[in-house]
Amino acid sequence: MKYYDKLIFELSRPGRKGYSLPKNRFDRNALAALPAGLKRGEAAELPEVSELDVVRHYTNLSSKNFGVDTGFYPLGSCTMKYNPKIDEEVAAHPGFLTLHPLQYSGSVQGALELYYNLQKMLSELAGLEEFTLNPYAGAHGELTGLMVMKAYHQRRGDLKRTKVIVPNSAHGTNPASAMVAGLQVVEVKSKPNGSIDVEDLKPLLDDTVAGIMMTNPNTLGMFETEILEIARLVHEAGGLLYYDGANLNPLLGKVRPGDMGFDIMHINLHKTFATPHGGGGPGSGPVGVREGLESLLPNPKVVKREDGSFELVCEEGAFGNVSSFLGNYAVMMKAYAYILSLGKENIRLVGPMATLNANYIKENLKDDYLLPIQGVCKHEFVFDGLKDKSTGVTTLNVAKRLLDYGFHAPTIYFPLLFHESMMIEPTETESKETLDEFIEVMHKVAHEARETPELVLDAPVTTLVRKLDETTAAKNPILTYRALLAQQDGND
Ligand SMILES: *Cc1c(COP(=O)(O)O)cnc(C)c1O
Repeated sequence: MKYYDKLIFELSRPGRKGYSLPKNRFDRNALAALPAGLKRGEAAELPEVSELDVVRHYTNLSSKNFGVDTGFYPLGSCTMKYNPKIDEEVAAHPGFLTLHPLQYSGSVQGALELYYNLQKMLSELAGLEEFTLNPYAGAHGELTGLMVMKAYHQRRGDLKRTKVIVPNSAHGTNPASAMVAGLQVVEVKSKPNGSIDVEDLKPLLDDTVAGIMMTNPNTLGMFETEILEIARLVHEAGGLLYYDGANLNPLLGKVRPGDMGFDIMHINLHKTFATPHGGGGPGSGPVGVREGLESLLPNPKVVKREDGSFELVCEEGAFGNVSSFLGNYAVMMKAYAYILSLGKENIRLVGPMATLNANYIKENLKDDYLLPIQGVCKHEFVFDGLKDKSTGVTTLNVAKRLLDYGFHAPTIYFPLLFHESMMIEPTETESKETLDEFIEVMHKVAHEARETPELVLDAPVTTLVRKLDETTAAKNPILTYRALLAQQDGND
């Protein structure tokens, strides 16, 4: 291990400093006036390090990370695509950066116009009437959308509708959001190809159903061809259709959820519309609704007056608020810049290119990896591990071996429909050369699994830390240096 790879506390030496403050910076009288309960009894235990130590430590640390800017990141169901740097530049525009949320509408017309226009662009792309950009993330958008659904039924006095139908292949946030919204989750079975079993759906559709949550293409990357029939059945039963549009890549410019019959949806700006994600935020999960539901969308709202000016308003029809002010504004600026830089002509290519790239990898690897669902996929697909099951090499082993070759692993063991799931989504932003290199490495790993399986079973060998004990890490997390010391004491 390199010296600067040590923990920052291990670099600490008593008395070493990384700062110098002017003397008498603080007013002693003001310090004395602090209530006793708020004063520190003893100095904080902070690492004592020089500025150079800090710079080297964190610069080295940052280079250990893997991101979409360092290599191919084929993470299914999570759209890790290239985030153009121009979007970051736009989001850092000082005219927007220094705004305060409590400024009166007249002084922030540009910011409100951007919000309004982005909302309109998303409406056009989704085939829906109106969007709120206030929710902070995909799951937050789901909760918001479900609260719209609930409010819709309650306003009509239809209080029996408390159930939401969710396919068993759905993203985990779907049933979780339904529970948080106070709705009851009813599972509908998927057919072997991952699409909803319409025969299983029919008997579930009674007058207690608030709606159904689904996504199309489904979690296995296959287009739900019976969507119009499903929409007809759910609407006939008095329910609404919710679309999980976290990953809208495959549809962009080709198909609109509104045209398929969906009433409410969310989009992840941080997956589909170019905001870096994966580190926990910031995100943005705008929610769109069809005509007739827009008054229910949460406050505050941005409206355009007849004279062309914009205003921030709170309307009585809304079911409430879901965020402070207008949500994660910087993320909206990135999405706005992204949509404008692609333009109407090029945004049409996103879906077809994402689909082409996924099918290219799938077809080139299906001799070595088990493809449970044949046929043309959309932006992603699932392998059920290696085709040759006699080697003892699992999906986890393959994923770890990919790290040695400089690729991020695909999503593994999700969806739960197969034992050895490996979900691959290349996205539309990768070149053919990158895809070819990935295919070559995947073949190489399959070859190793047959000829020299220990190489794959022992992986990763080139990363800073080897195979991690994920169970212990989750059950007994050590999150502070003090906890680490206590554990080491315990072991001595
Ligand atoms: C990522 C994702 C979500 C959740 O989005 P967050 O922003 O992480 O809350 C929901 N549904 C699907 C299909 C997703 O891929």
